[in-house]
Order: sequence, then C-alpha cells, then structure tokens
Amino acid sequence: MPEFSWTCPYCDRPTTITNERIRTSRSVLDINNPDGRQILDTMFIVCPNPKCQKVAVVADLHESRVLGDYIKRWEEIGKKLYHWDLVPPSKARSFPSYIPEPILIDYKEAYLIKDLSPRASATLSRRCLQGIIRDFWGIKPGRLVDEINAIENKVDTTTWQAISAVRKIGNIGAHMEKDINLIVDVDPDESEKLIKLIELLIQDWYINKENRKKQLEDIINTGAVKEAQRKGATKNNHNRKSESHPPPATTTTCYNEATVAWKKSPTTTK
Ligand SMILES: [Zn+2]
Repeated sequence: MPEFSWTCPYCDRPTTITNERIRTSRSVLDINNPDGRQILDTMFIVCPNPKCQKVAVVADLHESRVLGDYIKRWEEIGKKLYHWDLVPPSKARSFPSYIPEPILIDYKEAYLIKDLSPRASATLSRRCLQGIIRDFWGIKPGRLVDEINAIENKVDTTTWQAISAVRKIGNIGAHMEKDINLIVDVDPDESEKLIKLIELLIQDWYINKENRKKQLEDIINTGAVKEAQRKGATKNNHNRKSESHPPPATTTTCYNEATVAWKKSPTTTK
C-alpha cells in the first residue's frame, strides 16, 4: 500500500503512514446475492509517534468489479459503500484537557453520530458552538444568533463570516436561532461543516491562546534565569576580586606607590 497522510486520533499528530505501521486484511463476498460481490478491507494502524504508538482500527466496505474475459479476469475495488472507524470509534480530535469538558463531550458525541444521525450531530454541534462562544467570550446566554452577533467586533472578519455562513446553511440556519434544541433535517455535509468549524474555533481560540501564553511564559522565565545568572556572575566576580585583591585602602596604597614610582622614574632617568 502506498504511503498516506494520517493524523493520529490519540496524540493528534499529523504523520505519514508507511507499510511498516499497517497490517491489512481483505475478505471478498463471492456468494451470489442481490447486492453483488463486495470487498471488506480492515486495517490496523500503529501511530509512529514514539510517545504514543497507539493502535487504530478502520474498515471499508467496497463494491467489487470483476473485469476482463474468460482468459484473463481480475477483480477491482469499486465504489466505497461504508467506512467505519472501529477503534477509536470516531475521528474526533484529541483536544487538551484545559478545554471545558462540556464542550469536548458535545464535540466528541457530535462526531460519533455524524454519519449515523446528521440531525442529532448538528444539534450537538450547535450547542457546542454556543458553549464555546459563551465560555470563551463571556457572552450572556441568549439566542444563538444574538450571541454570534455579539462577537462580530471581537473576532477577525473571516472567522465571523465563517460562523455566520455555517449558521445560514440550509435548515440549520432556518431554525437554529429560534430554538437551539430543535432537531431539524440536516445532511451529513452540513453536520460535517459544523464539526470542522468547532475544531477550527477550539484550535484558534483555546489552543493557540494557550500556546502563545506558554511561549511568552517561557520567554519571561528565560529572561529571569539569565538575570539570575548575571547577578550570580557579578556577585562571584565581586567575591573573586575581594579574594585576589587587598581591601580598597591597600589598593589605594598600591596605586599611590605606583604613582610615586612613576613620578619618581623621570628623575631616575635623568
Ligand atoms: Zn499517536
């Protein structure tokens, strides 16, 4: 199998999966049935990140196409019918624990049922979006549409336009401002867009902010360590000087003696 890009669902690290990290198996349904021949591929993927190395299991069901003639026949994978993320049970990203738990729970559950029930998934995503806006921006609870409008001047234009655009998609937009818990018809593409928006907001608002904070703290700490080292070095130098040189009064004496010697020298040369 050719190498492919993959983001580990456990450690969230984007990586390239090579043949050494996967094991696959294939079974072919060759019993006569109304749906025709089918191919089931299962795959173990072991995360190459040394600190993770967890195992993901996925399965794909495809239509099978038999090509050729009586002399030469071969079987080809056809249209993908189903994809299952078996372990872990969804592609939900593994976000850090400093993100509020209710937001993470809604996000993970929205992902879990994305294909099974796009309507229920979108309902959870809308609640998750509302939770993020309230928690991160401290917006007072109200209708989601008002809450989104309340952050228009707080976020960059493109982000706000994306939130606004998702709100307006199909039936989601038609109902979400009236009742956040109302279940409406949503197709899988719409529920996926909501989930992707939530991932983007968690990344942009919570994670980037935390990373920036850590980076700045690191710079501050480095500055403090350097300052302490500088002070320590000055103190040590001072101590060393104190040990190697006589006290100031004696130094003055030396200087005076030297001066005297220098002053005397012209006379001695004459
Ligand atoms: Zn991993």
